[in-house]
Amino acid sequence: MKRALAARPWLPVTSENVVRDAADRTASQDAPAVLAELDRLVADNRRIHDADCVNLNPATNIMNPRAEAMLSAGLGSRPSLGYPGDKYEMGLEAIEQIEIVAAELAAEVFGARYAEVRVGSGALANLYAFMATCAPGDTIIAPPASIGGHITHHGPGAAGRYGITTIPAPVAGYTVDVDALRALAHEARPKLITIGSSLNLFPHPVAKIREIADEVGALVLFDAAHLCGMIAGQAWPQPLEKGAHLMTMSTYKSLGGPAGGLILTNEPELAQRIEAIAYPGLTANFDAAKTAALAVTLLDWKVAGRAYARAMTATARRLAAELIALDVPVYAADQGVTLSHQFAVVTPEGGQRAAARLREANLLACGIGLPIEDVEGDTNGLRIGTPELARLGMTTVDMPALASFIARGLDPATDPATVAPEVTTWRKQFSGVHFTIQNPG
Ligand SMILES: *Cc1c(COP(=O)(O)O)cnc(C)c1O
Repeated sequence: MKRALAARPWLPVTSENVVRDAADRTASQDAPAVLAELDRLVADNRRIHDADCVNLNPATNIMNPRAEAMLSAGLGSRPSLGYPGDKYEMGLEAIEQIEIVAAELAAEVFGARYAEVRVGSGALANLYAFMATCAPGDTIIAPPASIGGHITHHGPGAAGRYGITTIPAPVAGYTVDVDALRALAHEARPKLITIGSSLNLFPHPVAKIREIADEVGALVLFDAAHLCGMIAGQAWPQPLEKGAHLMTMSTYKSLGGPAGGLILTNEPELAQRIEAIAYPGLTANFDAAKTAALAVTLLDWKVAGRAYARAMTATARRLAAELIALDVPVYAADQGVTLSHQFAVVTPEGGQRAAARLREANLLACGIGLPIEDVEGDTNGLRIGTPELARLGMTTVDMPALASFIARGLDPATDPATVAPEVTTWRKQFSGVHFTIQNPG
């Protein structure tokens, strides 16, 4: 049979070839064969992430098996429209309770007054935030890609697609330049100033940004997609306390939960607007399965969050120190590298190319922007983080061995494929999921 999917000439050739091969194979097989193929792919993914490789990417994590079980517990296909106690469909007495438990735990863990859990992703959380604070045609100021600013805050992402114009914030170190931001804000009169990015090394000047926002009548959005774990573990300043009006996040990165988003605020007017965007605005049903999984994840943070955040930072700082000792160029080494769970390696040849080399060594990472060259928007760094390492039970004493694998993986004189089997063997000593309600250590 011929495949049904049409060719997409706008795709890169490599992608189009991958799609064509898999689509052709799917079209040529009967249903049981495709099912077997899907099972094989799921097992393959398990092997890659849970056996072969070590994940250095801070944008991913492993879930508490109790949370993962919630994803296939018959919840996700039940629509649940409206407020608890006043749902449109019948039979939601249990699901509406799950929704409340998740929101209560989110508010508790993050120390916020309002929590919106009916959010499909971190990108959508930002769209909700833009819709609650701006109208199409408005201007916002957001961190540029050179300091890890996320695409959702810019033209091609949620902000631009909603009709917002984004002015990149001026940069100092790996955050915004407060004095230059003040001048820019007075000139541009933004409706919103955003802060928080995909790589965060030191606390951002949130209180100062709030001062500037107040001067020009803007609101402040803190994007905690990556820092949420550090904040939940009380190892980082709480952005709402420092003056942010809204805080958004992804729930599958350092938080270690299901794929999804979460929005927090202390402001009743904003909470009411966000709620109306969740329903009846942008979603009708929401995913109760991921909501239950998020509730379990938040219990993990309640029980073991402080220890987890401390472990993430300690392993990140030690790993960076060991890499520096092996002459790997670590970004911001002269400033102490990082206070968070993530840091960057300088890769002038391109972060994605370095990541592709490391993949051959069974080490998973990806590129990130660094403000070191005139390559705005490009990835000239390699981002490394420890959410998954710490959750697998690695501690600081394991970092010298890991650093030597990374250094050899990056060394142009070494064939990274020779490192791969050593990484897989080394990884076998780590198992289970740590910092959970049932395994808090
Ligand atoms: C990952 C990320 C997002 C998007 O989150 P998704 O849940 O993947 O949609 C938003 N902002 C920042 C800073 C991110 O790093």
